[in-house]
This record gives sequence, C-alpha cells and structure tokens, in this order.
Amino acid sequence: MLLLTPELADAVTRHALAEHPLEACGLMAGPAGGTPTRHVPLQNTARASDAFRFDAREQLAVWRELEARNEVPRVLYHSHTASRAYPSRDDVAFAADPTAHYLIVSTADRTNPELRSYRIVGGHVIEETVVVAGPASR
Ligand SMILES: [Zn+2]
Repeated sequence: MLLLTPELADAVTRHALAEHPLEACGLMAGPAGGTPTRHVPLQNTARASDAFRFDAREQLAVWRELEARNEVPRVLYHSHTASRAYPSRDDVAFAADPTAHYLIVSTADRTNPELRSYRIVGGHVIEETVVVAGPASR
C-alpha cells in the first residue's frame, strides 16, 4: 500500500498533465521505510511521448541532496501519455530498487488521469493500492 497526501498526488498529476504529450518523471522523497513527504520533479531528457530518462547531472545533485537530508527516493514516478498506467517492459527492466514504489500516471485520458503504484522485484510486477489521505492544507 502506498499512502499519499492529497498534495503529493495532485503535484504529480499536475506535473504529468503539464508535460503531456511528453512523458513526465520525478520522485517523492521521504525517510527510509516511511511515508513520502516531498515532491521532486525531474527533467525528462528523452523528451519523448513514450520514454523518459533522468538527466545524469540533475540526478546526481538530487540524490546528494536526499542523502544530506537523510531521505530516500520512496516513490519513482513517470507518466504514460498514450497507454494505461501499467509498467512497460522497459519500466520493469530498469526498475532497480525493490524498496521503491513505482508510480505511473496515465494521461491518456487527460480529463481523468489514472494513478497506479507497483513494486517491481526481480522482474515481477506487484500492484499495490494507492491511498490518498491525510492532512489537507489548502
Ligand atoms: Zn513507463
């Protein structure tokens, strides 16, 4: 199960819609083993509608910042612009962190974006429930 505040769920969905028809990518940081607390959008250097790639320098800087803040990338997310929110063959192949939540936002239907989360362990895809709840600050 992945627990997200409404703010985090909204931030990721808005990022995906803003980048559409290109894929968006990024992460949610938080304490190891804990609930994600912070949205970190990342550039998609692939600039494609069907692929994403982190910028190596940006990734290095962000990962260093996480380390300095004693955080880990709890959620790694990207969007699918023309297909449902299910990991592609490449998504599974590149999923290296069995402790991370792999979140996919589908913007195929822009009026009704679909947000789903997975664990990907040893090539196996396990869907998990996404619960959006918590203190909503307006
Ligand atoms: Zn994908």
